Amino acid sequence: MLMPPCELHHPQTIEEAMALARDLNGRGEAFDWVAGGTDIIPNYKWRINTKPHIISLASVEGATLLTSTTIGCMVRISDIEHSNVVHPLLRQAASKIASSLIRKSATIGGNLCLDTRCFWYNQGEDWRRSIDWCHKADCGTGADCRVIPNQNTLCVATYQGDLAPNLMVLDAEVVLLGPNGERRMLLSDFFMLDGMKKNVLEQGELLWQVIVPETSMDKVGSYQKLRVRESWDFPEAGIASAWLPGDYSSLQVASTALESIPRLHSDLVEQHLRQNNGIEFSVFSDEMYKEIKPVNNTALPPRYRRSMIRTLTKRSLKLTIGDGI
Ligand SMILES: Cc1cc2nc3c(=O)[nH]c(=O)nc-3n(C[C@H](O)[C@H](O)[C@H](O)COP(=O)(O)OP(=O)(O)OC[C@H]3O[C@@H](n4cnc5c(N)ncnc54)[C@H](O)[C@@H]3O)c2cc1C
Ligand code: SF4
Repeated sequence: MLMPPCELHHPQTIEEAMALARDLNGRGEAFDWVAGGTDIIPNYKWRINTKPHIISLASVEGATLLTSTTIGCMVRISDIEHSNVVHPLLRQAASKIASSLIRKSATIGGNLCLDTRCFWYNQGEDWRRSIDWCHKADCGTGADCRVIPNQNTLCVATYQGDLAPNLMVLDAEVVLLGPNGERRMLLSDFFMLDGMKKNVLEQGELLWQVIVPETSMDKVGSYQKLRVRESWDFPEAGIASAWLPGDYSSLQVASTALESIPRLHSDLVEQHLRQNNGIEFSVFSDEMYKEIKPVNNTALPPRYRRSMIRTLTKRSLKLTIGDGI
């Protein structure tokens, strides 16, 4: 399949990238950032929401910085997997992403900014035309959402990235750069419950770095993932947990691939710890099951994915509170 016509830009510095973004914004010309291209290039080839310009981050100076606490947006997933400085939980999660070949091109920035996915949307152009499109890529037809029809305000496409919940339980933050300057926030505040908008990034803004607090390096944790084929499939459900051994107040649990956002379940954990004076694996797993309601838009049926929340939560907590990694 061929790429649609579009202009590719190659800034060498972040200042150049920002100037380009400002210029295109000013001229009203739409564009996308491209990092490793493992998600966006197939989407472009399938003519899914393409733009006339693409700005590559591949040569931007400083974007591959990798220390134990700072991870640049262009750091490859395989570099995280094999790093001996990043938190072991991130190494574990990275090793479970896609296939070894994809991990060599895919980046942390692209993984966190991954487009949400839906059975009715991630299809070839002819396939989508045959069902008269859908709300997220309606091609000007005003088509309905195929998952929750008769509303056309909300897209419930699923976020299926693996790194986010693991970074969330380590209290990671993200640094965003845009034409209006820099801002920093918790990763758990970055995502938006809307399968079309996905996250808080404004037009022209990019995710520049991920910051893992020094204090989180002492946390231990575990990530449990459900997928169809272990060799390369997207997560159909994922649960991460981490704590500072012995300190229940530091326990964090996050989920992915079950809703439009990866979600940190801080309130649920806090309430559970208050009511149970510690963690009851089965009770907490039931509470997670009640809190998360996947919809029917990925490979496996939502009822099965939801039932696996209990299993994955129990497994993750047992490993974390057992001895963790
Ligand atoms: C067969 C297959 C299996 C896969 N399995 C998994 C899996 O198991 N787990 C998983 O998590 N993912 C999976 N993926 C999805 C994807 O490959 C990865 O998530 C990857 O990390 C995306 O990174 P990338 O650098 O290739 O992103 P790109 O494709 O370059 O970009 C992805 C999106 O992020 C935006 N973007 C990229 N970088 C930035 C930035 N710095 N700031 C702002 N926006 C940015 C782009 O505009 C685009 O919208 C799979 C993909 C394939 C093709
Ligand atoms: S959830 Fe609805 S609007 Fe969103 S991609 Fe799927 S069918 Fe389209």
